[in-house]
Amino acid sequence: MSAVTARELNAITDAVAAFRERLADACRAAGRDPAEVSLIAVTKNHPAEYAAHAAHCGALDLGENKPQELAAKRAGVNEIDAELGQRARWHFIGRLQRNKARQVVESADLVHSIDRPALADAVARAATAGDRWSAHRPLPVLLQVNLDPDAPRGELDSTAARGGVHPADIRRLAAHVATYDNLRVRGLMAIAPLGHDPARCFARLYEHSLDLRVDLPGAELISAGMSGDFPAAVANGATHVRVGTALFGERALA
Ligand SMILES: *Cc1c(COP(=O)(O)O)cnc(C)c1O
Repeated sequence: MSAVTARELNAITDAVAAFRERLADACRAAGRDPAEVSLIAVTKNHPAEYAAHAAHCGALDLGENKPQELAAKRAGVNEIDAELGQRARWHFIGRLQRNKARQVVESADLVHSIDRPALADAVARAATAGDRWSAHRPLPVLLQVNLDPDAPRGELDSTAARGGVHPADIRRLAAHVATYDNLRVRGLMAIAPLGHDPARCFARLYEHSLDLRVDLPGAELISAGMSGDFPAAVANGATHVRVGTALFGERALA
């Protein structure tokens, strides 16, 4: 990993402050209190120093999309600043394979991407095997929803389901996850599909969230919106925005 310069860290300080202003503006435009929307700083493909510095700037929610990078980044931030590392909350926002569930339950504080029953099974098993989560302290998870209006429904565990459960199956997936007492469904997550109006997609996500809350009143979190579309997500009830590029600049292609 190349050495991080003071100039890079200063740029992050400025970008975090500037983004907070934009987020507050989006909240005001939507008639919402900025305190209702958490910023998740996504440092994927960037060094642990970036994550530690973001936390130092007050962005204590940190997001990663690869299990290995999440584990390494969490350890790296702890090494840079143990106190900050302890206070940071780690979000796993990427596609998850069953054989990586163990790594994720050991490192993540919120898993955003449960998209099929078989993955919930693997995550629950991993949580049972480890010592961080239990029936008394269940692992909070979000169900990832596929907002592509052309997505085929398919079977709940089909390959088509990976990357997001079909909206018609959200309640079935939630009921499956609810059979595990060491997992807790806290809400929904989605990525606006390319080529579709994000505002309309996020409006549908909000409707799905209201439907889910009929069964599960505590499932009130909505993880939606990235650098390019967060105002539309905030206007449609997002409680967590996941932002990388606007804070840390363009990523090198992995
Ligand atoms: C990378 C990533 C983000 C952040 O995207 P930016 O456009 O860089 O803000 C958000 N959500 C997920 C799932 C991601 O993988």
